[in-house]
Amino acid sequence: MSKLEPIRGVRGMNDVLPADEALWERLEDTVAGVMRAYGFQRIRTPIVESTRLFVRGIGEVTDIVEKEMYSFVDSLNGEALTLRPENTASVVRAVIEHNLLYTGPKKLWYAGPMFRHERPQKGRYRQFHQIGAESMGLAGPESDAELILLCARLWTDLDLPPVRLEINTLGSAEERRRHRDALIAYFEAHHDQLDDDARRRLHSNPLRILDTKNPAMQALVDAAPRLIDHLGDASRAHFETLQALLRSQNQPFTINPRLVRGLDYYNLTVFEWVAADGLTICGGGRYDPLIAMLGGKDAPASGFAMGVERVLDLMRDAARQAADAPMCDVYIVHNGGLPSDTAALNLAERLRDAGVDVVCHAGGGSFKSQFKRADASGAVLALVLGEDELARGEVSIKWLRADAHDAGTQQIRVPAAEAIERVIAALIAQDEDDDDDDLIDLDVASADEDGDEADGENGAKMTRH
Ligand code: ATP
Ligand code: MG
Repeated sequence: MSKLEPIRGVRGMNDVLPADEALWERLEDTVAGVMRAYGFQRIRTPIVESTRLFVRGIGEVTDIVEKEMYSFVDSLNGEALTLRPENTASVVRAVIEHNLLYTGPKKLWYAGPMFRHERPQKGRYRQFHQIGAESMGLAGPESDAELILLCARLWTDLDLPPVRLEINTLGSAEERRRHRDALIAYFEAHHDQLDDDARRRLHSNPLRILDTKNPAMQALVDAAPRLIDHLGDASRAHFETLQALLRSQNQPFTINPRLVRGLDYYNLTVFEWVAADGLTICGGGRYDPLIAMLGGKDAPASGFAMGVERVLDLMRDAARQAADAPMCDVYIVHNGGLPSDTAALNLAERLRDAGVDVVCHAGGGSFKSQFKRADASGAVLALVLGEDELARGEVSIKWLRADAHDAGTQQIRVPAAEAIERVIAALIAQDEDDDDDDLIDLDVASADEDGDEADGENGAKMTRH
């Protein structure tokens, strides 16, 4: 009998295997703690909702509704249903249905699987997970700032590599309309400079012309009317206050005038967190019109959603980097016993005084086996105190890394009194070479004229950031 063909999982929908569980739990636990710290309460809504909710709540002419939704008819009762592609519409529905704003503003968060029929690739799946927060009933820029700072705290608590914050304002629907009219008028006045694409889009979607890749149109596009110049006082003040609040908390950001969200109901603040590889891990913004659009009593709101799989990828990168990080800068190889132990200890302690991380070999063994340990430690330099060095009051410095700054220098021997200075100079030179490696960052404070003992003979001191 031929073997049965195994049934495979659905494309773009992944198993989370036990090996990944610790990472997921760390993310979930950290999120729960940060949400609590900001006064957000968890809400859980069903995975399946009426298709109408998303058509109205996300908008008919969006990518999600046009081509990404898993919609089906329940064959048992004919209901049109959809697997949720995002959670904001469901949360707003639940808030309206249960009258949650009756007692005042509500800050809610959620986590769970979402479904979009997209082409699967790294960081883009058909079942993926989002964690998000929604501040409902709060109109001010301070609640936008709070959402942003909440995210920033989360990235810090998760030890993510740097993610950059981009912000923009979309103003109000009326201001966007005025900007659109100004754009059309401007491009009409320069009709002769428009390419075919731009002419086609002139009346249907003039904003898309701003995205042109045609170098011949760049100057024209750069000088086009900007939305920011069409903002009324209230929108402008909202945006400026948001920026001032972020600055007050030392939260860096860049204004990206091209940053928009796909959906029509977004207004005023929009923001994105972008990883070094250019992938957006989190997007958010204000959506004041949505609650009324879904049949609730008019109330302002803003929120964000992050892609869990993309955040987990960054956590994996960071964990890998931490595992690869060198144990020390310098590894001391020596014979062991007296007087070798004393000399090695003296050298190690003086280097540590100067801010250098040192592993001093313990447990004896051949130099060959000690050098193996030195290599494995990730140290830049090995300092060798053999019998000959001890007898002459010298130290050998051996460069351990293949990509060493001074590739020609394999090993030098210096008087013990000069060793600290030479080591620090070598580490600084190496650090400047490793400019993409921010794990080590060395500063040399100005030399102490009095030759303070504690700072080593050259008075240099290295600090780590
Ligand atoms: P993109 O432009 O990447 O398609 P989007 O605007 O559709 O993103 P949002 O709806 O704002 O994304 O969702 C918020 C976050 O959810 C995104 O920033 C991303 O990190 C994550 N995300 C969106 N779609 C997917 C997907 N198919 N697979 C994995 N993560 C996703
Ligand atoms: Mg998308």
